[in-house]
Amino acid sequence: MKIAVLVKEVPDAAVEKRIDPASKRLDRSGEKNLNPFDTHAIEAAMQLREGGAVQVDEIVAVTMGPDSSKSALTKAVSLGADRSVQLTDDALAGSDVNATGYALAKVLESESPDLILLGQQSDDGECYAVGAVVADHLKMPSLTQVIKLDASGDTLTCERQAEYGYDTVKVTLPAVISVGDAINEPRYPSLKAIMGAKKKPLETKSAGDVGIEAGKVGEAGSKTEVLGLNPPPAKAGGELIADADDDIDGTVSKIVSWLDERKLI
Ligand SMILES: Cc1cc2nc3c(=O)[nH]c(=O)nc-3n(C[C@H](O)[C@H](O)[C@H](O)COP(=O)(O)OP(=O)(O)OC[C@H]3O[C@@H](n4cnc5c(N)ncnc54)[C@H](O)[C@@H]3O)c2cc1C
Repeated sequence: MKIAVLVKEVPDAAVEKRIDPASKRLDRSGEKNLNPFDTHAIEAAMQLREGGAVQVDEIVAVTMGPDSSKSALTKAVSLGADRSVQLTDDALAGSDVNATGYALAKVLESESPDLILLGQQSDDGECYAVGAVVADHLKMPSLTQVIKLDASGDTLTCERQAEYGYDTVKVTLPAVISVGDAINEPRYPSLKAIMGAKKKPLETKSAGDVGIEAGKVGEAGSKTEVLGLNPPPAKAGGELIADADDDIDGTVSKIVSWLDERKLI
């Protein structure tokens, strides 16, 4: 079995998220990291390999991003991927989620994996949608929020978390599976793996290399457009209930009535 894991470079969680008012895009400058949700997808691939129920011949990390996104691929390899593929091209800048999914599907087509794993969401865009878009383009079944994965032959038995409980679903490969962050506890890379990751094959592909049609990507090829941006409304000031030294019961009763009025107790 060949597994492709989609990974994305995102601004570090400690960096304040800003939107560039001129381009209306997320300002992705500053410190960057591998999307933490994707580490669960890499770990799921590793556990399938180590579980032994199926033979995993190769785990390939795939990203679409600017030149700097190579470092997310190196981190993915240090966590267990055997090699990586970067799709990078100026023509892809400004792609919305549909165009991103299309472009990723074209790279994946050139890899022909049996299983495509990805995280539930990116830490920056948080669309939760790439898996479904990729699956639609590849005409593969797609499951989201998978928190348990068992493989047998060309069948996956998946448990997925839903608002009402859990679904158990069987899918026949090839399939696109987006894993929930409850699926596993990602491992830390060993020092040896970190040092060795830069030596593993990293292939860079352009839009033309994978047959991406120019009119389907970038700002022009995107079906959505950001029309305006508004900061979140300022928070109203809190209400202070002062503690009266000589009347603790009165203070407690004021707090209880405040909570009661708002149906919080
Ligand atoms: C009008 C518009 C313009 C935009 N312009 C840009 C732009 O210029 N540059 C830019 O970076 N973003 C841009 N975006 C955001 C971009 O569309 C999203 O980042 C992208 O669609 C992925 O969505 P998401 O990050 O919310 O992924 P989600 O659907 O939340 O992510 C789910 C999973 O998909 C995988 N994944 C997501 N993105 C990638 C990727 N690129 N490579 C590999 N795997 C991935 C990861 O495994 C992730 O865990 C734009 C969005 C809009 C609406």
